[in-house]
Amino acid sequence: MNLIGSRKHLLSMKHLSNEDIHQLFSITREIEKGHPEAPFNGRFAANLFLEPSTRTKSSFHIAEKRLGLEVLHLDGNDSSITKGESLYDTLKTLESIGVELAVVRQSEVGLLNTCAEDLDLSLINGGDGCGEHPTQSLLDLYTIDEQFHSFRGLRVAIAGDLKHSRVARSNAYALTQLGAEVSFVTKPEWQDPSLTTNYITMDEAVDRCDVLMLLRIQHERHDQTTAPTSYLEQYGLTKEREARMKDHAIILHPAPVNRGVEIDHELVESRKSRIFRQMKNGVTVRMAVIRALLKGEL
Ligand code: ASP
Repeated sequence: MNLIGSRKHLLSMKHLSNEDIHQLFSITREIEKGHPEAPFNGRFAANLFLEPSTRTKSSFHIAEKRLGLEVLHLDGNDSSITKGESLYDTLKTLESIGVELAVVRQSEVGLLNTCAEDLDLSLINGGDGCGEHPTQSLLDLYTIDEQFHSFRGLRVAIAGDLKHSRVARSNAYALTQLGAEVSFVTKPEWQDPSLTTNYITMDEAVDRCDVLMLLRIQHERHDQTTAPTSYLEQYGLTKEREARMKDHAIILHPAPVNRGVEIDHELVESRKSRIFRQMKNGVTVRMAVIRALLKGEL
């Protein structure tokens, strides 16, 4: 786990060792078995979301409340960031008034790392533009681990808008470190040389993968729109392709899903899909991360 300053933060999957990841899984399992007390009663967390979010924001809110935390919510419209206050000054303010943990989503890659050095409160990166999204990755990994109990040699295909996806980046780092064989499916213009050169077609991916991780097309980060039907046929998961997947293979997607674009509408809730399971796991995995940070358990 990364130690910047005097407290611990979760900013990037690159800062977690395999032991850290497994330790977080065992805390998650412990929490799943039952958590009678809210260990952080009367303490404060803040969720600062300067980019849109449904799942991450609500999931953190529930996780924090289940742990007994009081939660402050700030977004781009109601914070002094609209008056020109820097993210660092906003976070320093929250720290000064007694907030011990802040979850931050904002658009500048790596900005939180520069703030973290001089802050005592714990920071969690809730998604930094096209950078990283470590808690999404942890909940994805946990969902994979529930099914396969090991990552070594697991064939994982990550398919979609790689260039703009913080989810792809966090998962590519972590899965590779854990020993999975990671390959990628994408349009040539969405390839990301910083990730890998291991590109395959969607047809190759469905034939060989154990885990197919689909990504949303990040329309908000594009200049041009992508035609939905032709994308599904060339790069997406059609019913015909799903039928060719291995019996034990699973489908992940961080959501929101563009139904009929990355994946056929009917497959979103199909037998192989773990999309809603990922969301369920997200709450307990985030509880584990918060507990680990606030109690110094890693
Ligand atoms: N919810 C994920 C994220 O915030 C994936 C997405 O938006 O496509 O990165």
